[in-house]
Amino acid sequence: MTDRIIDFLRDRREKGQDDGPCMVLDLNVVRENYSAFAKALPDTRVFYAVKANPAPEVLKLLAALGSCFDTASVVEIQQALAAGATPDRLSFGNTIKKERDIERAYELGIRLFAVDCEAEVEKIARAAPGSRVFCRILCDGAGAEWPLSRKFGCVPEMAGRVLEHAHRLGLVAYGLSFHVGSQQRNPRMWDAALASSAEIFRDLAERGIHLSMVNLGGGFPTKYLKDVPAVKAYGQSIFKSLRKHFGNRIPETIIEPGRGMVGNAGMIEAEVVLISKKSDDDTVKWVYLDIGKFNGLAETMDEMIRYPIRTAYDGDELEPCVLAGPTCDSVDVLYEKDPYLLPVSLEIGAKVLIEGTGAYTTTYSAVEFNGFPPLKSYVI
Ligand SMILES: *Cc1c(COP(=O)(O)O)cnc(C)c1O
Repeated sequence: MTDRIIDFLRDRREKGQDDGPCMVLDLNVVRENYSAFAKALPDTRVFYAVKANPAPEVLKLLAALGSCFDTASVVEIQQALAAGATPDRLSFGNTIKKERDIERAYELGIRLFAVDCEAEVEKIARAAPGSRVFCRILCDGAGAEWPLSRKFGCVPEMAGRVLEHAHRLGLVAYGLSFHVGSQQRNPRMWDAALASSAEIFRDLAERGIHLSMVNLGGGFPTKYLKDVPAVKAYGQSIFKSLRKHFGNRIPETIIEPGRGMVGNAGMIEAEVVLISKKSDDDTVKWVYLDIGKFNGLAETMDEMIRYPIRTAYDGDELEPCVLAGPTCDSVDVLYEKDPYLLPVSLEIGAKVLIEGTGAYTTTYSAVEFNGFPPLKSYVI
């Protein structure tokens, strides 16, 4: 699967273009992931979450495959449109939008918006009259390696009121959304949110408002160190819950995969800058890479995402190492609480390959913190 990436990296080295860490993403893997989603959830439309990796080549490929796009800003809307998606295939899925951005999106043809409170509904009613809105409900994110906290969504009891307000203001109360937390390793975690959704559908129907859609969000995992269930298992579990809670009146559904669409398509090549100990009897080595929290590996925050790391010394004896980035900021440490096992024979100057880095890396990287350039990205 990563042979193409390995070949690309060798080529880059041979041409003398190897000047710092880079992320290489294989479009063939994205294509496979898209088909796997389409197959696992055949009646569900895919809205790729652009923020996971907005590389134009990725967006273009997905647009050509028929994907829709979940966008969070005017720039992301423009990126998806530039890739060939028509505005009816886009949603403005951020619940926190400036009114002038809603207006701009409306001018660009966007008619589907996320909300989670009445104030946001009012902005949309003014700036994007007649549009469809879906209300995001809170999800606790249990079981997710990158939970999404309480920043987005409202309690289910409030969602009905928010959508009623939208209806009253001339918008189309279109449906509900939730996100079960990113890198969600438990396929059954959609069940509770679908139970709440079905209840809101029924409540609103009694008041004459008929919702059409449930947005199942993202959360589909990519493989890091631990194994994750296949997307097929998610499809089966979600379908079972839809049947259980909606009976034979299953609504239109959409998913918004980000990580699950591009995570395993990318690999970072980085270099060991220094290996040292803090004292003669130190039991852990410190290994410093030329990549850290500020130039691509932000998701190691709180050691949440643990990336698989390959080296040319794999197979040798392993020892626990603190892994850190290159900047002069003390938070630029990747794994310390839970040290990372690396080969004893690893040397300064060695290359390391960090797998599963196609999502949430390049655009998380700072512009020039400490003089380190943003992470280079190649799409092949
Ligand atoms: C980030 C985001 C996603 C993608 O989540 P993944 O866990 O990467 O699949 C989906 N929907 C919304 C609204 C998001 O903000």
